[in-house]
Amino acid sequence: MKIVINSIRYDNSLVDGPGIRTDLFLQGCDIHCPGCQNQSTWDIAKGIEVEIDDLVSELKSKMRSNKITITGGEPLFQKEALIELINKLDGFDIALYTGHQKEDVPNEIKTKIKYLKCGPFIERLKTTIKPFVGSSNQEFMEVK
Ligand code: SF4
Repeated sequence: MKIVINSIRYDNSLVDGPGIRTDLFLQGCDIHCPGCQNQSTWDIAKGIEVEIDDLVSELKSKMRSNKITITGGEPLFQKEALIELINKLDGFDIALYTGHQKEDVPNEIKTKIKYLKCGPFIERLKTTIKPFVGSSNQEFMEVK
């Protein structure tokens, strides 16, 4: 199966979950939060289509740790591909960043990830104090 990505930032983030993490930005978002800083990820047609197996091989060969944050865009916009990707990232410490609520995340994903950030970005609640979130309404939690 293929998945549409925006970009990958290797071993470079301290703000998207515990530790030094690789950020995988998936393409496509239909939530469109006002003030979103990743608007270039909204249009699925503007992403890069890759085979999930090739993506997993590249991540395994280039990441210096097993800590990965899957963000976007809205990862659940490509739900089927996301499930396959997460299943193939066995042994990884996965954080999933979604603008949806916890109950909207399928159990087959929740049982495989370590951390979940949920809730839309709300500009008037923007925070630089609450760890690992962009606005104070959002929740970052350990799920596994
Ligand atoms: S869900 Fe994320 S990518 Fe989508 S609009 Fe909101 S902040 Fe931006």
